[in-house]
Amino acid sequence: IPHAGPPPRPRVLAIANQKGGVGKTTTAINLGTALAATGEEVLVIDLDPQGNASTGLGIDHKSREVSTYDVLAGGATLREIVRPTAVPRLAIAPSTLDLAGLELEIGQERDRSFRLREAITALNADPTEPPYTYVLVDCPPSLNLLTINAMAAADAILVPLQCEFFALEGLSQLLKTVEQVRSALNPALTIHGIVLTMYDARNNLSGQVVEDVRAFMGEKVYDTVIPRNVRVSEAPSYGKPVLVYDLKCAGSEAYLRLATEVIQREKALVRPLAG
Ligand code: ADP
Ligand code: MG
Repeated sequence: IPHAGPPPRPRVLAIANQKGGVGKTTTAINLGTALAATGEEVLVIDLDPQGNASTGLGIDHKSREVSTYDVLAGGATLREIVRPTAVPRLAIAPSTLDLAGLELEIGQERDRSFRLREAITALNADPTEPPYTYVLVDCPPSLNLLTINAMAAADAILVPLQCEFFALEGLSQLLKTVEQVRSALNPALTIHGIVLTMYDARNNLSGQVVEDVRAFMGEKVYDTVIPRNVRVSEAPSYGKPVLVYDLKCAGSEAYLRLATEVIQREKALVRPLAG
């Protein structure tokens, strides 16, 4: 008999960077898939009005009747909007363009920054459903109220950085925002790690960026670097994670290694998942 008490809380990682096109959505989909493959119960929450994580996991726009908009606007619970994917143990809370108007609608409410946190607190309340152990929040390319909701709900932030000349530009702004959220909204918030994406071994600049970012951020940078890989960019148009589209490609192997590292860092941290 399950004993009473607060429902088990999943580990919540917000995948954030206010730059677009750095690999947030790709990382949410494929890290989520890799974690599910290791036996975790994973929910990806799509918090970008563009809805690329939802599309990339096979949920087409027309079929999205309820979405993360309804959750943040107070009209639905997460469990009510969650959809299964083709990957066992991986679910998606899809988004719609409605989300773009949310800030205007709830921007004056006192609890505006905690809508997602509240929703995640209730996520595992039903003891007859298997509890989610990981929630990955795919953030929009902006430091807006949606990203603040993700940071206020998260245990930690995972930052994808593209291996390009301006990789570090914008990182200090992001870190400053994390600092503000920590002091005002979520004292336990940490940086889980920084993952370098779209690494091109034939390009000297890529190697230089890896060196610079490691020099600047030290141990926060994961050992795993995600290579630029055409299979990774093809997979979303099939509505599949690259791990399903082509398990053996370099991109899939990299995301599997990243999942291993994420789990290792989790083990090194506190909190067993228990009620
Ligand atoms: P963001 O969510 O930060 O805007 P995306 O994950 O959507 O970024 O990635 C931006 C573009 O780069 C997409 O077209 C995606 O398919 C592509 N992409 C991301 N990671 C890789 C990779 N490792 N190799 C090749 N293309 C990639
Ligand atoms: Mg995205």
